[in-house]
Amino acid sequence: MEAALKIGWIGLGNMGNPMANNLLNAGLDLTVYNRTKNKEESLLQAGARSASSPQALMDSCDIIITMLSDDAAVKAIFEGPSGLLSSANSGKLIIDMSTVAPATSRYLSEACNKHQLNFLDAPVSGSVKPAQDGTLIILVGGTEENYAKAKPIFDILGKLSIHLGPTGAGSSAKLAINYLLGLNLQGLAETVLFAERNGISKENMLTIINESACGNGISKLKATSIINNSYPAAFALKHLVKDLRLAGEAGLNAALFNPLFESFQKAQEEGLGNEDVMAIIKSINQ
Ligand code: NAP
Repeated sequence: MEAALKIGWIGLGNMGNPMANNLLNAGLDLTVYNRTKNKEESLLQAGARSASSPQALMDSCDIIITMLSDDAAVKAIFEGPSGLLSSANSGKLIIDMSTVAPATSRYLSEACNKHQLNFLDAPVSGSVKPAQDGTLIILVGGTEENYAKAKPIFDILGKLSIHLGPTGAGSSAKLAINYLLGLNLQGLAETVLFAERNGISKENMLTIINESACGNGISKLKATSIINNSYPAAFALKHLVKDLRLAGEAGLNAALFNPLFESFQKAQEEGLGNEDVMAIIKSINQ
């Protein structure tokens, strides 16, 4: 990648912060913007510059990456006052790595095209630890040419990037993998609680699961949280509710989908939205 290229990063939450940090550590020229300014501090100390608005960041960078909560947040950053699309910047590339509806990705791509800007949807599979380790899986929709331009950045952020097709393909794949994530979390919680009600400790049941063919990355990753009954957000439960809602809107109508969605919605209504997705076990255990 051209060393002189200036990279702009918007959205320094649980995922954006470690991802942007990896770009800095790789020696890239990085400018950041976050709505809540104090989340920029660690990156500024590590050598990033701060932009006063998305528009200012857009004006001063060549490739702009967004990693924001949801469709409304992304649209606000693109189209709001002092947003990314507020001034003329033809030829630049914007990569949205947030999980949003495929329709939103296509909408943003068209809005970019009207401004002679290039766009990729590139949501990620993997949570905070893979974000820190640069081992995310990056699911990309858009043109080959734009993918080729972004690939050196994806190689820093992830262990794998896959170009899946036209705009929206990355977002479609992301909604599918997060349905499976939801099924895993729900199944793990129900299994551990069922065993516990029949006298099997959580510790023993998690050992059985994780030593068996049923164990997987999620059951291993979440075992400590379940044992300690502590769920600080790596992936906030409210974001999975959003992803399941988007999957339903995108046509997911499988037998397990509606009960799964209702279970996570109920957990959010009970006030668990800002805890980790694994806090679903607290909602089920009532
Ligand atoms: P997060 O910790 O909640 O951070 C969200 C970011 O969006 C923050 O920078 C927040 O700014 C910003 N934001 C929200 N609403 C905004 C608005 N209206 N205007 C401007 N900025 C706004 O979320 P995250 O966990 O990093 O996730 C980011 C995206 O990645 C989500 O789409 C999520 O579904 C997806 N994802 C997450 C994980 C995970 O494990 N966490 C894994 C894969 C994909 P403030 O700091 O000002 O609130």
